[in-house]
Amino acid sequence: MLKGFFNVPKAVNEPVKNYAPNSPEKAAVLAAYKKMWNEKIDVPLYIGNEEIRTGNTRNITPPHDHKHIVGTYHLAEKSHIEKAISNALASKTAWANMAWEQRAAIFLKAAELIAGPYRARINAATMIGQSKNIHQAEIDASCELIDFLRFNVEFMTQIYNDQPNSDSSIWNRLEYRPLEGFVYAITPFNFTAIAANLPASAAMMGNVVVWKPSDSQVFSAKIIMDIFKEAGLPEGVINVVFGDALMVTETVLASRDFAGLHFTGSTHVFKDLWAKIGTNIHNYKTYPRIVGETGGKDFVMVHPSANVKQAVTGIVRGAFEFQGQKCSAASRAYIPQSLWPAIKEQMTTDIQSMKMGSPEDFGNFITAVIHEGSFDKLVSHIEQAKKDVDAEIIIGGNYDKSVGYFVEPTVILTTNPKYATMETELFGPVLTIYIYEDAKWSETLELIDQTSDYALTGAIFSRDRYAIEEATVKLQNAAGNFYINDKCTGAVVGQQPFGGARASGTNDKAGSAMNLLRWVSPRTIKEVFVSPENYRYPFLGE
Ligand code: NAD
Repeated sequence: MLKGFFNVPKAVNEPVKNYAPNSPEKAAVLAAYKKMWNEKIDVPLYIGNEEIRTGNTRNITPPHDHKHIVGTYHLAEKSHIEKAISNALASKTAWANMAWEQRAAIFLKAAELIAGPYRARINAATMIGQSKNIHQAEIDASCELIDFLRFNVEFMTQIYNDQPNSDSSIWNRLEYRPLEGFVYAITPFNFTAIAANLPASAAMMGNVVVWKPSDSQVFSAKIIMDIFKEAGLPEGVINVVFGDALMVTETVLASRDFAGLHFTGSTHVFKDLWAKIGTNIHNYKTYPRIVGETGGKDFVMVHPSANVKQAVTGIVRGAFEFQGQKCSAASRAYIPQSLWPAIKEQMTTDIQSMKMGSPEDFGNFITAVIHEGSFDKLVSHIEQAKKDVDAEIIIGGNYDKSVGYFVEPTVILTTNPKYATMETELFGPVLTIYIYEDAKWSETLELIDQTSDYALTGAIFSRDRYAIEEATVKLQNAAGNFYINDKCTGAVVGQQPFGGARASGTNDKAGSAMNLLRWVSPRTIKEVFVSPENYRYPFLGE
């Protein structure tokens, strides 16, 4: 029984620690890294109250040193997926009926565990397993994840607070029920925060979840589960399965109780999932909610009035941080002819000063790309650019996978604004540049809008307010997150709700109440205090 309308702690963004030389956080994360590097973890399936070890295992290897084995994880068979679904459903009533403040407390506690005792561990796992440098690990695995958990609790209370009008004779109420069934969360390799948030946001709203992490994010997924368990998340609320993505998905989507998909990953996978859900639609108890945040071909547009140093900083950070493996990473840039010599010079100096290697060495800005498939794909585009007459590699272009999957930050200059790497998402440290004539600023805005199927992020650099206004209007459908005089990456929860449209996703804005609303099905309750006792209305007369 509810005995108060509780206020939750005001959500504030977690401050980013700086890991400067001799700082305590640097010492702590390096100690955790060294320990975990040699630990050999063994990651089970988490189903109900069981940790299941199937014996069918795969190795976990750091992308920057792929012969080193840091652990193993166990793969599910179809029967495990069925078990995960039945365990989720068995946990549903108790979880959905748990008072919201109890659910909130679990996730607030998880945030606090990450902010304190687990911070070094979750950052180190992200550095080892996903090859993030310490800054990238800190802003993702610690700060963004903490923010997701704290802000979502606040957003949840805002949703519950949103109630219809009533009067003295009737009381109207909205109940925000969890979905009838279970939610399937499929997560990508590139953000530990997204991996945790996709199952957690649905669970926070009272849903039970089957979560399939990426094979390339298992190390930090294990730490996420350690944290959720320590925070008191009851068994069976989030069930974790690893294994053949097609088999897992087909088993999940065959369930009559499948009620929602929370997906982040590539566009083609999401489109296939949508099609499969459509094919199965007659089997489901309810229309499933489909939320997907997918690929990007994110642009930076520089106006002739731009400040060169600021534009270059925005471009190189946007394109090369985390080796360009952010859905929001800048991968095509449009530079006015008049600024190109200055921009090229500054950009070359900046990129050539970037060191590449293991994230354990804090001097490295660039580390490895996630796996061999990604490495090979990037190499094929780089080699193609070396051959094509309408493209030229002006910076980088070297690569080596003997120890880790290392690809130099690479800049391709093209004379063809529809060149393959201006349109296709490569998901790596490759930026393509097209030089436009200053007088063709407006036409180039149209070109940007029409070049790619995606519409995730985009940035413009300009000191001319008319130009800013024109770009803001002309590019309104080209990016779900639009930046003025800033890089196109680094959305902060509670400040820049994140998501794109067109082929980039359903734009349900992770890190906002809009996303949480997808995981509830409101029930309207109307209560009349003194009910009528005669069917006749006055217009009927005597
Ligand atoms: P991916 O599509 O290869 O994998 C994502 C998840 O889908 C993984 O768990 C994977 O195992 C699973 N999967 C793969 N094939 C599947 C199938 N046939 N059926 C069901 N599940 C399947 O993506 P990735 O390489 O992990 O991540 C990179 C992609 O994610 C990029 O396209 C990037 O733009 C996108 N992304 C988007 C956002 C966003 O917010 N828009 C954020 C992060 C990443």
